[in-house]
Amino acid sequence: MANKTNAYILSKKESGESDLVVTFYSNTFGKIDLFVKSARKSKKRFQGKLENSNQYSIEFVKAKKINSLNSLTSIEQAKNIRFYEFDKSIYIYRSIILEMIDKFEIDNQPNSEVFSLMDFFYLNINSNNEIKKIKTTVKTINKYLKINGVQPTIKKCYSCKKDLINIKFFDLKNGGSVCNKCRLKNKPFILNLNKPINTKTLNRDFNYLNNLLIILLKFCEYHSGKIFNSVKYLRVI
Ligand SMILES: [Zn+2]
Repeated sequence: MANKTNAYILSKKESGESDLVVTFYSNTFGKIDLFVKSARKSKKRFQGKLENSNQYSIEFVKAKKINSLNSLTSIEQAKNIRFYEFDKSIYIYRSIILEMIDKFEIDNQPNSEVFSLMDFFYLNINSNNEIKKIKTTVKTINKYLKINGVQPTIKKCYSCKKDLINIKFFDLKNGGSVCNKCRLKNKPFILNLNKPINTKTLNRDFNYLNNLLIILLKFCEYHSGKIFNSVKYLRVI
């Protein structure tokens, strides 16, 4: 019997001579790996349908043998989402979000909040406005960390709760921005920012948002215990 769900593609791996193993994040089943037979040979069947730029409606059948992967049998673009033109920053931000979900999620643990967050990201990232795109990305990471119970404090010191005008230090382990006084308590996990982030102009300053994005990704790396390859695409300021 076929299983149906809507899903986004998180990553793809080559398998054998012409097959693929595609990792999806699906609405009904959470993160799943599906075997796609002859995906690299039969161009017609899957052309333009195994890209990470869209939401798909997919069908798969359960493997007959234990320890074998389930097989994708059908994939169609979900009608409600537009296909985006190639855009370098959309490509980078999308890689970051997909890598984050791929690295944090556990197989077969569906979470409708995570799926809705992906909808939010795909809907809002489609823009020509660089500030809007990076804000959508920062917001998506923040919300995702909140769902996972590790949302960092940004504009206040996480320890004494004092509002910060400039973020100079960030504590990766204990939960976010930290003031000069409180940082001395947890020295080994402190990031020292070369260029402090001004919290008053953060929302309209691309460089500040870019630096905050890098900090959030370091935070993700720390809490997942995994290296994020997509970070290297970001311009370090
Ligand atoms: Zn403090």
